[in-house]
Amino acid sequence: MMVTIFISIFQKNIYRIKTIRSCSLNVKLMKCGGLDRALQVIHRAREIGMRVMLGSMSESSLGCGAMARLIEEATEFAKTRVVSGEVIANYQLIQAMLADSVVDLQAARLMTYEAAAAHDRGDDLKALHARCSMAKLFASEAAYRVADRAVQIFGGRGYMRENVAERFLREIRVDRIWEGTSEIQRLIIARSLLKRGLEATAGNN
Ligand SMILES: Cc1cc2nc3c(=O)[nH]c(=O)nc-3n(C[C@H](O)[C@H](O)[C@H](O)COP(=O)(O)OP(=O)(O)OC[C@H]3O[C@@H](n4cnc5c(N)ncnc54)[C@H](O)[C@@H]3O)c2cc1C
Repeated sequence: MMVTIFISIFQKNIYRIKTIRSCSLNVKLMKCGGLDRALQVIHRAREIGMRVMLGSMSESSLGCGAMARLIEEATEFAKTRVVSGEVIANYQLIQAMLADSVVDLQAARLMTYEAAAAHDRGDDLKALHARCSMAKLFASEAAYRVADRAVQIFGGRGYMRENVAERFLREIRVDRIWEGTSEIQRLIIARSLLKRGLEATAGNN
């Protein structure tokens, strides 16, 4: 379960840091427990030929960590912010945004872990590539949706530069571009479907 271990360490580290991908990222990561172990796993992963997965998998696990942080922050805020004499967490439209975000997170986690399990099972590398693309595509798009909802829940505060949701919305935007844009991930998935069929691309192998 090499990949699975890597993903959980990565998620925890991203989840624990207060800012992501800032110029002080390395310093902040160094303060998080488990980094040495994560680096060992990455190094080992490279040795055993997982390059095809690493970019996509780290992106999808990063998206999961970011979604978890955003949901917790937005929930905490919603439970304390009073508007018209009521905490906004009691408003059903706010609850809907939180629920949709939890669903996005859970789906992204399952896809990410499933792709990791496919690697551990020793699935065909090309089919695995499509699995990783699906996880990366879904998690990066979902994380952006979750960040956007979090900004909405924070209201005007969510637009302020010092707010966690504003920062994540800005930072997470690039995840839909680097390590293969969402369009390129879709092409990889579609090519796998056309060449290998649905079962090989998305079946329960
Ligand atoms: C902050 C940042 C850091 C980066 N760091 C690194 C790094 O460390 N190492 C590295 O190698 N790269 C890095 N990149 C580059 C990144 O991987 C590329 O930006 C990304 O792969 C997209 O390439 P591009 O910018 O040339 O866009 P283009 O290839 O010019 O694409 C432009 C648009 O056209 C779309 N498009 C392209 N081809 C097709 C097609 N066939 N069908 C439909 N749509 C298509 C794309 O999806 C995109 O929307 C970084 C980028 C950023 C923004």
